Amino acid sequence: TPQHVKAVFDNMLSRSPKNHFTVGIVDDLTNTSLSLGPDLDTVPAGTVQCKFYGLGADGTVGANKQAIKIIGDHTDLFAQGYFAYDSKKSGGFTVSHLRFGKKPIQSSYLITHVDYVACHKASYVRQYDILDGLREGGAFVLNSSWSLKDMEKELPPAMRRIIARKKIKFYNVDAVKLATDLGLGGRINMIMQTAFFKLANVLPFKEAVDMLKASIRDAYGDKGDKVVNMNISAVEKAMDALQEVKYPAAWADAPDEPENTLEEPEYISGYVRPILAQRGDKLPVSAMFPDGVVPPGSSAYEKRGIAIDVPEWQPASCIQCNQCAYVCPHAAIRPFLLSAEESAGAPASLSQVKAIGKELDGLKFTMQIYALDCQGCGSCADVCPAKQKALLMKPLESQAVAQEANLAYVRGHVSIKDGLLPRDQLKGSQFYQPLLEFSGACAGCGETPYVRLLTQMFGERMTIANATGCSSIWGGSSPSNPYTVNKDGHGPAWGNSLFEDAAEFGFGINMAYDLRRARLVDLAQRLQKEKIPATLHKAIDAWLAGRDDGAASGPLGEAVLDELAQSPSGDLAHEIWQLADFFAKKSVWIFGGDGWAYDIGYGGLDHVLASGEDINVLVLDTEVYSNTGGQSSKATPLGSVAKFAASGKKTDKKDLGRMAMSYGYVYVASVSMGANKTQLIKAFKEAEAYKGPSLIIAYAPCINQGLRKGMGKSIEEEKLAVESGYWPLYRYNPELAAKGENPLQLDGKAPDGTLQSFLSGENRYAQLERSAPEESRRLRAGLEKTCNARYNLLKQLSELPGK
Ligand code: SF4
Ligand code: SF4
Ligand code: SF4
Ligand code: MG
Ligand code: CA
Repeated sequence: TPQHVKAVFDNMLSRSPKNHFTVGIVDDLTNTSLSLGPDLDTVPAGTVQCKFYGLGADGTVGANKQAIKIIGDHTDLFAQGYFAYDSKKSGGFTVSHLRFGKKPIQSSYLITHVDYVACHKASYVRQYDILDGLREGGAFVLNSSWSLKDMEKELPPAMRRIIARKKIKFYNVDAVKLATDLGLGGRINMIMQTAFFKLANVLPFKEAVDMLKASIRDAYGDKGDKVVNMNISAVEKAMDALQEVKYPAAWADAPDEPENTLEEPEYISGYVRPILAQRGDKLPVSAMFPDGVVPPGSSAYEKRGIAIDVPEWQPASCIQCNQCAYVCPHAAIRPFLLSAEESAGAPASLSQVKAIGKELDGLKFTMQIYALDCQGCGSCADVCPAKQKALLMKPLESQAVAQEANLAYVRGHVSIKDGLLPRDQLKGSQFYQPLLEFSGACAGCGETPYVRLLTQMFGERMTIANATGCSSIWGGSSPSNPYTVNKDGHGPAWGNSLFEDAAEFGFGINMAYDLRRARLVDLAQRLQKEKIPATLHKAIDAWLAGRDDGAASGPLGEAVLDELAQSPSGDLAHEIWQLADFFAKKSVWIFGGDGWAYDIGYGGLDHVLASGEDINVLVLDTEVYSNTGGQSSKATPLGSVAKFAASGKKTDKKDLGRMAMSYGYVYVASVSMGANKTQLIKAFKEAEAYKGPSLIIAYAPCINQGLRKGMGKSIEEEKLAVESGYWPLYRYNPELAAKGENPLQLDGKAPDGTLQSFLSGENRYAQLERSAPEESRRLRAGLEKTCNARYNLLKQLSELPGK
């Protein structure tokens, strides 16, 4: 800002200028920062400065770009826009900084003096300094469903004081309700943009509306008339929905609320909280952690509250199948079992019913909703098989208070009872704690449910080497870490190298583990040759025999350590203690998307698969480069529209699974959660247990595919993909070949003839149907041929006699 620039000049003018100075950060370690003078405003008079707080993918940024274009194209005004994002996927935080004025704009810095603020997400009022820098008499538009009375309790006192003291022109619009009524879902951008043109006085309103409508036709034309008309109605109806809030003068003296006395670790209160509140730039250098290690579990503190609707559990109709938890991309709905004592102490708002099943005899069952962590995708409610839906989507405001209170009880007083049902079955798996929770993925993301499930199956001994891409972004958006630990402090260790070398990175980790475990084996065997108690000797024998069994090796190792603790300690024992972490067999996973596995990291992936080492690869196949906005990869199927394939991809999807199968010693599975939940668990289990390389290719619906029914249907889409023959389900297990059986098991049925309707349900295919019907037909016929041929081939291969 000009303040910083002036500090540099002031330094030059000072008697003893600082050499090697920093400006813009508070360097309290080497003390090189320049101090700042008083606030400065150098923007030419008459420039209108506006800030918009939006939720990623709610259309705010796009609408602002459009506003700039409209104003730039149709007036003599100068315009400037800058868009700041956090590193979440859609559903994250965005701020748009817009300036308009008669004089050229040379302010290449964020807006500090604001004339117009729009807050597109009501829950932001408690999370961010929305009114920071708003001028006396400036305008503030809030999208909320609140009445004036609600605002007395929903708006923080400091915000009410600023509004009244600065005589802010304050407007509210219930844009979510209007957008929902119009069929626009969460896309409130046109409503908010209309409010902007009405209130910011940049253009005569009538003209602005006409231009807005023209730009809608332009921008949404390729999505069809229905979408165009819905957006035009949004503009027309927005004016009535916009209400000036006649707040009382008493707001100027709104008293503070009692302080929140919640105890939080220093890492959270001193480091994570300021960053989440967008005040990270103000943290001093001493607040940073120089070793790059990020403590686990910090995403649980975010409580983003971004869902519009969250599920409400209806205990009477629930059949306790746990499918809702199984498909949740955000681990925001989880079953708990309560003992008699835990049940008796629960708050009345916590619904509980008798747990079904003889293994759970005497226990109560509850399905806990994490209302403020839920992203409102609706996948859970969609998948619920109960005759009468046992999950109903209800407005967040109606659920949050009770559910957060229930959650506090469950967290503090209810133990996780995970050993009662098998871990490798759908229902049982969900009583295990997810060690991936509340990630920054888009609502309804197809990738995260796979990884969440993996952490429930192997999390406490997992190490993950993550390729850059969506999974590294939702998996590690500093400062929130969605990978967490169980009550013993065990959870996935996670690292991200580059886009192109995740396989090599994971291979290196695996190699180091192997060497260190080999050392541990050697030490243990040498110890056995010394004079040690028979019980220790026996414990070591047991561990040596079971050390390569993932589930058993940990407890067997604990038994050795228990014995060792009671024996005289020497150098050997000392060294064994240092390697104590390696008694449990690690579950090493390499994660990445199709852009990594099929394209950029393929060389390394192939090398690692060919190594024969015991290592696992999970490819989250969205059939495009999802993280960078949907570019075509070699996983993109024939006929699909993607960036770099605007007229439909002209070549077939690479058959990565078949290529890997050709080695003969690689475990390969093709899975799709929504199609066959049991097959998926089997594949994870077999791959992990297989003492060689394994590759799992998982079909992952993604916002870039344009599911016409929305991402709440991503699990359903996974089912349709398999039924129509679009996605194959199989497992190729070299261990079967070793037993003389056919290694390939085909888990999907023959294509049922619904392929074309499946394709029409996704914009990536439907788009071409509208823009180039002829070409679309040709490519889609080709795709159908490929899918059928692939099925027939797999079928033939799976029917060959074993040797
Ligand atoms: Fe999870 Fe989506 Fe259901 Fe929320 S609505 S609990 S995020 S599946
Ligand atoms: Fe109950 Fe429905 Fe969840 Fe099954 S999916 S556990 S029936 S709420
Ligand atoms: Fe969003 Fe798609 Fe990435 Fe999932 S894979 S986080 S849906 S962009
Ligand atoms: Mg992808
Ligand atoms: Ca394996």
